[in-house]
Amino acid sequence: MSISQSSPIIIVGAGTWGTSTALHLARQGYKNVTLFDRYPVPSPISAGNDVNKVVSPGQYSVDQDRVDVNTALTMEAMKAWMNDPLFKPYYHDTGLLMSANTPAGMQRLGVRVRPGEEDNVVPIEQPEDFRKLAPSGILRGEFPGWKGYLTRKGAGWAEARNALAAAAREAQRLGVNIVAGGTAGQVVTLIFEYNDVKGVVTADGKIHRAERTILCAGAAAGQFLDFQDQLRPTAWTIAHIALSPEERKQYQNIPVIFNIEKGFFFEPDQNGEIKLCDEHPGYTNMTRLPDGRLGSVPFEKTQVPKESEIRIRALLRETMPQLADRPFSFARICWCADTADREFIIDRHPKYRSLVLGCGASGRGMISPRGVMTWTLRKCTHKLTISAGFKYLPTIGRTIIDAMQDKISPKMHECLKWSPGKATSRNWADTLGRFGGPNKVMDFGDVSEWTAAPQRDLSKL
Ligand SMILES: Cc1cc2nc3c(=O)[nH]c(=O)nc-3n(C[C@H](O)[C@H](O)[C@H](O)COP(=O)(O)OP(=O)(O)OC[C@H]3O[C@@H](n4cnc5c(N)ncnc54)[C@H](O)[C@@H]3O)c2cc1C
Repeated sequence: MSISQSSPIIIVGAGTWGTSTALHLARQGYKNVTLFDRYPVPSPISAGNDVNKVVSPGQYSVDQDRVDVNTALTMEAMKAWMNDPLFKPYYHDTGLLMSANTPAGMQRLGVRVRPGEEDNVVPIEQPEDFRKLAPSGILRGEFPGWKGYLTRKGAGWAEARNALAAAAREAQRLGVNIVAGGTAGQVVTLIFEYNDVKGVVTADGKIHRAERTILCAGAAAGQFLDFQDQLRPTAWTIAHIALSPEERKQYQNIPVIFNIEKGFFFEPDQNGEIKLCDEHPGYTNMTRLPDGRLGSVPFEKTQVPKESEIRIRALLRETMPQLADRPFSFARICWCADTADREFIIDRHPKYRSLVLGCGASGRGMISPRGVMTWTLRKCTHKLTISAGFKYLPTIGRTIIDAMQDKISPKMHECLKWSPGKATSRNWADTLGRFGGPNKVMDFGDVSEWTAAPQRDLSKL
């Protein structure tokens, strides 16, 4: 049954993808949209609630259809970061250094320069060239064995939290009803009725009926629906270091420095903090579920494992040794949901037809049928080894709405469809082509020591 612009539509999760969907529904004239979230927006557990995220067109694949789909999604998002007045103020075109420090890492990095881009994508090979990427005295490290490529323009970072909050405010201004925080915002179950989904029930006991329900609950999506092992909640690790106001000025205007074997960092945010992440294939929290199956269950924690702190400090010793022993001002684990091939799931559910899925945002992967792909395509600038679901904030909602309206192109549908077959006998420890750290997926069950960074009120993140 088709719906009208006044049909009730519910979105579960006001994180990156749910907010984007709400915004675009409102922009397209839908008048009866309710967006639920467990927390006030931006939710402290949203993967998008972060000071900054990498935004770049760099991508992957060996399959031409996937390349085409990816190019369409990425270019649409990049265009919006640069031109949509809502998002443009939050995008910083600082450039992006992608690098590695072993031959295997370099091979995985696989940078190719597109014809005509020779001036924009330049190799950086010597320690002094790395040091020159920032004002004198900032990148003082030895950069041992580092080699990489700097994309000077057309890549950089976005003020993630600010952009997310702005998108939510705009959706609200255009008429979206945001119910966030407390028991009223927390969805406890979808309403399964007559082989379909007819809305949600919230923790205050209220029943909310809808003609379409859009699930954008990020790493929590598996709580609401049996994804048949298609989603693996996987966490990464973030730490901040605070600079003095004087230092903040000195550390500004540097590209994002990314080493796919070590980690990455950004110029300081407006509060004078540098965000750092160590790079690794992620952490699971494998748990025996009530039905006897094994699954990774997300939990909230504003600390990172001590081993992650050690890796972050090692990254600093190689790049900005003057900060290597400075205490963390904040630390957090941050959850995404990985599909078996790191492809998104944007589809109407094949059985529950009123349920639309905007899930698996962790990836846009790089997995060939043989595992790690062989790089063959000259049109891409680098392989994607990082999670990249955030950069689609300005536009992914349109694709989710296309899926809801059955307007998604057959090629895109083929790439993004509900595909439990891909997750049959899933190897939960699959690195999915990522590396860094111990080059394996770690599990929080094995972590004995955590950092003791100062706590922050999560609702005021
Ligand atoms: C450490 C880290 C670094 C990353 N770096 C980048 C990067 O540099 N560039 C990039 O493009 N991407 C990056 N990503 C990936 C990106 O952040 C995610 O893919 C994206 O934000 C996920 O969006 P989402 O909407 O699926 O999930 P989320 O943004 O996590 O949103 C899920 C929402 O569901 C809500 N929710 C949960 N349970 C309930 C409930 N019961 N009821 C109601 N609401 C609920 C949550 O509160 C949350 O707001 C990174 C991810 C991590 C973890």
